[in-house]
Amino acid sequence: MIDLLLTEEEMMLQAAVREFAERELKPRAKEMDEKEEFSWEVWRGMTALGLAGIGVDPAYGGDGGSHRQMVVAVQEISRGDAASAVNLLAHRSLGMETIYRYGSEEQKLRYIPDAVEGKAVLAWALTEPSSGSDAAAMDTTAILKNGEYRLNGGKTFITNGDVADATVVFATQDKGLGHRGVSAFVVERGAPGFETRKQRGKMGMRGSNTVEMTFQDAVVPAANRLGEEGMGFRYAMGVLDASRVIIAAQCVGIAQAAFEAAARYSHQRHSFGKAIASRQAIQFMLADMATDIYASQTMTLHAATLKDRGRPFLTEASMAKLYASEACFRVCSKAVQIHGGYGYFKESDVERYFRDARVTSIYEGTSEVQKMVIARQLLEQFKS
Ligand SMILES: Cc1cc2nc3c(=O)[nH]c(=O)nc-3n(C[C@H](O)[C@H](O)[C@H](O)COP(=O)(O)OP(=O)(O)OC[C@H]3O[C@@H](n4cnc5c(N)ncnc54)[C@H](O)[C@@H]3O)c2cc1C
Repeated sequence: MIDLLLTEEEMMLQAAVREFAERELKPRAKEMDEKEEFSWEVWRGMTALGLAGIGVDPAYGGDGGSHRQMVVAVQEISRGDAASAVNLLAHRSLGMETIYRYGSEEQKLRYIPDAVEGKAVLAWALTEPSSGSDAAAMDTTAILKNGEYRLNGGKTFITNGDVADATVVFATQDKGLGHRGVSAFVVERGAPGFETRKQRGKMGMRGSNTVEMTFQDAVVPAANRLGEEGMGFRYAMGVLDASRVIIAAQCVGIAQAAFEAAARYSHQRHSFGKAIASRQAIQFMLADMATDIYASQTMTLHAATLKDRGRPFLTEASMAKLYASEACFRVCSKAVQIHGGYGYFKESDVERYFRDARVTSIYEGTSEVQKMVIARQLLEQFKS
C-alpha cells in the first residue's frame, strides 16, 4: 500500500502556496473574473514562488521536485483562484514540459530558464476549430522549404496564446499519415504570418486568456522543430498523460474552496430558528462533498506517486481526471444549493466556483475521452 501522506517538504510547499493564495489570489479572483484578463501581477507572484520550476533540473534553472509537489502547489493555487492555475499549468505542464522532454539541449537552454523565472510565458496549441478530441485529424500543415517550415492553418481555445513569448504548435506534414504525420514546433511571438485573437465570453476561468491562432505561411526556422518529424502527436499525448493529474489537482482545489465556503455559510444562515448547519439535509450534502474531495485527492496523489516512482500511471491519471472533474462539479453545485438564492449571484464566490468547475471535464480530454483511455488500457490486459 502506497503511503499518500504528504512529506515534510510537501507540507512546507503547501503552507507557502496557501499563504500566497490567501494573500494574493483570493482577494483578486472576483475582479479577474469580471475583467476577463490575465494578471501579470499574479503571474510574477506565482513564478517568484518557484512554481514554474517544480520538476525542472537545476541545470535549466529549476529546483527539481516531483509531480506530487506540482499537485500540491496547483491544488492550493486553485483553491485561491482556478484561472491562475490554468495559466500556470498551460505554461508549465504543457508548453514547457514539451520543450523540456523533447527539445534539444540548445532549445532547452533557450526557453526553459526564462520560463522557470516567469520572464517568458509559454502556450501549447493542439486544438483546432474542427478537431478537439480527435486531435490527430488536425488541418494545420507544416511544409519544409529552403531550410524553414511554413505553417498554414489555425488553432483555437489556446490558453496564454496572446501573452505567450513562444507557443508549442502541432502541425501535420502529411495528413495522409494520420497521427504519424504530426510534428511539434516552437513558434515565437512576432513570427511573420502568425497572429492571435482573444476569444472573449467564457463561462468560467475568465482570469485566463483564451486565444485563436492563425498561421498564414508563418515562418518557423527548421531549428524550432522539437524532436523528430512525425513524433509530435506522441509527444502531445505523453505530455497530456502527466498533465491530467495536474488538472485533477486543480479540481480538488476548486472543490475544497467551494466546500469551505458552504460549510462556513451553513453556520451563518438561519432558517426556521436554527442554523441550516443543524439540518440533516445540509449535513448530508456536506458529507457527500467532503467524501468526493477525499476520493479525488487520494486518486490524484496516487496517480502522481505512480508517475514519480516511474510506474505506469496512464490509466490512473485518466481515472483521477475523470473522477475529480465530475466530483468537482457535484461539489460546486451542492455549494450553490447550500447558499440558496445568494449562491446564484456573482456576489458569492460559489457562483464563480460553479462556473470554473464546468470546464474541467472538457479540457485536456473530455470525460468521454478519459473513459475511452481507461477502457482501452483495461481491455488490453484481457486480450488473449
Ligand atoms: C478554457 C479552455 C482552455 C483550453 N486550453 C487549451 C490549450 O491551451 N491548448 C489546446 O490545445 N486546447 C485547449 N483547449 C481545448 C480543449 O482541450 C478542447 O476543447 C477539448 O479537447 C474538447 O475538444 P472540442 O472542444 O473540439 O470538443 P469535441 O471533440 O468536438 O467534442 C464534443 C463532444 O463530443 C464528445 N466526443 C467526441 N468524440 C467522441 C467519441 N469518439 N466518443 C464519445 N464522445 C465523443 C466529447 O466528449 C464532447 O462531449 C481549451 C479549451 C477550453 C474551453
